[in-house]
Amino acid sequence: MRLWYSKKAPEFDSKISKSVLHPFAVRDYKGHTLNLYQGCQHRCGYCYATYVWSPEFYNKIYAKSNAPEVLENQLKAWKSKAMEPVMISSATDAYQPAELKFELTRRCVKVLQKYNVPYYVFTKSTLISRDLELHKQYKDNCFLVWSITTCNELIRRTIEPGTPPASVMFEVIKKFSDSGIRCAVNIDPIIPLVTDSPMDFESILDNCLRAGVKFVFGATLRLRADIWERMKTIFKLLHKGNNTIEEYTRLYHFIEPLKQGYNLTVDKFYSDTIIENLKQAVMSRGMFFDFPHLIGSRYIETKNNQLTLMDFI
Ligand code: SF4
Repeated sequence: MRLWYSKKAPEFDSKISKSVLHPFAVRDYKGHTLNLYQGCQHRCGYCYATYVWSPEFYNKIYAKSNAPEVLENQLKAWKSKAMEPVMISSATDAYQPAELKFELTRRCVKVLQKYNVPYYVFTKSTLISRDLELHKQYKDNCFLVWSITTCNELIRRTIEPGTPPASVMFEVIKKFSDSGIRCAVNIDPIIPLVTDSPMDFESILDNCLRAGVKFVFGATLRLRADIWERMKTIFKLLHKGNNTIEEYTRLYHFIEPLKQGYNLTVDKFYSDTIIENLKQAVMSRGMFFDFPHLIGSRYIETKNNQLTLMDFI
């Protein structure tokens, strides 16, 4: 089994890419993704990006070293006037430690800004504070999203040992929101029986409020065979009761062992209840429970024509 935790630092390597900007659509959201690294040192046990084609996901990080040049060429050659927002990143963390060495995110953000392309950054990192001024100068056209799963340090160190503590992330978020940059928090995944209690939500949401976060959204854990194997180790490390596995088989409607090829969502009643509770807790604090939709084309020819992200919020 591919374990997520290790005391060894990962190896870094470079690779050349032919294309870095890829279209994607999720439900009613359409946009592009930009994944500048392959692999991720944040080592989240529940990570969805650990596919079979990336067996060294946590231990070997590939930097797409020519990404800024390839991105610029792709944007130069863009045929349509319309350009959907770019999501940095969907299958890695753009501000993981490798970014200190390679600076690919910083350089690609500069290219996106040069071509007036709106973007989101999704991260769990505090390294993003290095680029505060860069994002600030583009604050009407970017949205920064921190993925925070728990404020409980014991749980955080077990389930995502390569991430900073939530308290440190919230200090960074506050600096960004104080600078006028729109910040959101994504509570994803909400892990049944581990991070799904009202107290878990309250501690995250109270911190969001203090940090000036306006948007909060979240989603419950999905299960695949490899994620399930890691979850069972997580249950052991967290001393969860013997019946946890059984409860999961009920919640996700499967029979042990979970076979390869399944991608299970949790029981609908459980999910609806949890998400509704989260929504009420978010709204009672005066924040929006929503993914800050940046749907819509914007023109990349002249600044005067451009729609900003504000148009979609
Ligand atoms: S930060 Fe994201 S990509 Fe990195 S290990 Fe965690 S879930 Fe996976």
